[in-house]
Amino acid sequence: MLKQVAEGVLVHESEFIQRNSVVVQGRAGVLLIDPGITTAEMAALANDLRELGQPVVAGFSTHPHWDHVLWHAAFGDVPRYGTARCADSLQDLLSHTDWKSRVAGVLPPEFAGEIPMDLLGLITAVPAAAAQIPWDGPKVRIIEHQAHAPGHAALLVEERGVLVAGDMLSDILIPFLDLEAANPTEDYLAALLLFESVADDVAAVVPGHGSVGGAEQLRARIKQDHAYVRALQDGGEPDDPRVGPSAPLEWLPDVHRWQLQRLAQKARNETPE
Ligand SMILES: [Zn+2]
Repeated sequence: MLKQVAEGVLVHESEFIQRNSVVVQGRAGVLLIDPGITTAEMAALANDLRELGQPVVAGFSTHPHWDHVLWHAAFGDVPRYGTARCADSLQDLLSHTDWKSRVAGVLPPEFAGEIPMDLLGLITAVPAAAAQIPWDGPKVRIIEHQAHAPGHAALLVEERGVLVAGDMLSDILIPFLDLEAANPTEDYLAALLLFESVADDVAAVVPGHGSVGGAEQLRARIKQDHAYVRALQDGGEPDDPRVGPSAPLEWLPDVHRWQLQRLAQKARNETPE
């Protein structure tokens, strides 16, 4: 089911950890951002769009994690964009003959049989210095940063005041750092600064997982995520309800402890003997 969040911008929420797909209406059809998870829900979305007379004319994946790079044949054979780093990372994955079993290893077991792998990750890089998605519709600015995953991009639909945040700025998830990166916490704080720099132009923020928020929510989430990452840097316990004693997602405090551990390990490995 599609819900409108601004004129010409619609959101579909998956069952899988409230994952949001975003549809932006253009002149000849729609831009589909992070299409969905299961075969059935993507087929239903394709059907809804067909009924609205809005074919998919382009796709975009915010970052190279499996739940953002799926596709369904019913969306059609259209360009599916991502940043150059996102495309590189996926090309690298797909170059391994055992890529399907690698991906299968990280799928949530309750959905594993329903996730279509055939068209996974077929992403075309937007031209290197492109500041916007090349398509026939409202200007969609690409805000690339290195938090959470290599070549992660948030998208700002400027005329509509909508920030599509990818796996950032969630009300239900804590910041998940890219722990393979050289400076995971610095990368994260830098991305939050970028969001702060566009906050005046945003009326609605759509996180990859969680609820759509308004302008005030955007500022509150930036602040909350900033405090969480600073707490990680200090190796301390954040005062954050998402990982507190009554955390709504009971597995999230484990992710938090794991992030703390990995950062401490990293710091030890980098300390000269
Ligand atoms: Zn992700």
